[in-house]
Amino acid sequence: MSEVLVVGSLAYDSVKTPSGKAERSLGGSANYFSVSSSLFSKVRVVGVVGSDYSDADREILKQRGVDLDGMQVVAGKTFHWEGTYEHNLNEAVTLKTELNVFADFNPELPAQYKDTRFVFLANIDPVLQLKVLSQIQKPLFVGMDSMNFWIDSKQADLIEVMKKVDIVFVNEGEAKMLTQEDNAIVAIKKVAALGPEYVVVKRGEYGSTVYSKTHGFFQCPALPVEKVVDPTGAGDSFAGGFFGYLASLRPSGQEHKPTWTELKQATLAGTVMSSQTIQDFSLKALAKVDKSSYQSLSADLVKMITV
Ligand code: AMP
Repeated sequence: MSEVLVVGSLAYDSVKTPSGKAERSLGGSANYFSVSSSLFSKVRVVGVVGSDYSDADREILKQRGVDLDGMQVVAGKTFHWEGTYEHNLNEAVTLKTELNVFADFNPELPAQYKDTRFVFLANIDPVLQLKVLSQIQKPLFVGMDSMNFWIDSKQADLIEVMKKVDIVFVNEGEAKMLTQEDNAIVAIKKVAALGPEYVVVKRGEYGSTVYSKTHGFFQCPALPVEKVVDPTGAGDSFAGGFFGYLASLRPSGQEHKPTWTELKQATLAGTVMSSQTIQDFSLKALAKVDKSSYQSLSADLVKMITV
């Protein structure tokens, strides 16, 4: 089985949406990514949690075969994010970001992680993303995600990371904010001009747009969902499905980068996974997806986009 390494936040989130609220429930970019990606590939996690992180929450990843050797546990409190969604469910409003144990986190990769070929730098301080990437010996395909918090506070570091990756995942609003452009298509091209061959712009209920400097655009609709309970983690679940799927196509020994066709297929995998995350709070709905429900949702999506 191929491996995917992710560095990102392991968090407790307090989230309010028009459907209700969840206090200090399990979240964080690395958690959503790992649960999603582990349906397709073996996942290695790099991150830090505090002494308040529960065994039951660790078990959610363990049950999916996720390798936790790179998860540090230190005295202090786990990262906490508080956010709300109003009528526009595609955009989270951050009320509080408490870095806690992430403030002093110095990622040291376990020796056996350093040969990972598929690497995802999930939403986290870009300085930490760079520290992790510098420890990987020969990455084959590297992706990254970010959010407005880092675009505001560490834009120069973020742009440094963008120069070093193959693919950038970004929300439509964040792409516009980063590039100071109102048109999503111009924004996507400007992000690609910073370095990556590919840029994925996530547009919530309207799906996603993938751009390749070589091949142009690919648009994928979202699966129709009637009741969006909590959109938190949709982006990370999308990236998890996308990366897990791609890695599953390259057992070790096959060292060529993903093709454009494979990237389009991976977009479908990401779309399916994110459509489930949003149907409940925290990781509850995502953790229920198994191979068989995935196959059936994936067939629905293919039917939807085939003429
Ligand atoms: P998404 O909705 O996929 O963009 O990601 C949501 C997750 O990102 C939440 O579970 C949060 O815990 C996490 N998160 C929010 N703000 C930050 C931040 N500044 N750095 C890292 N992770 C964050």
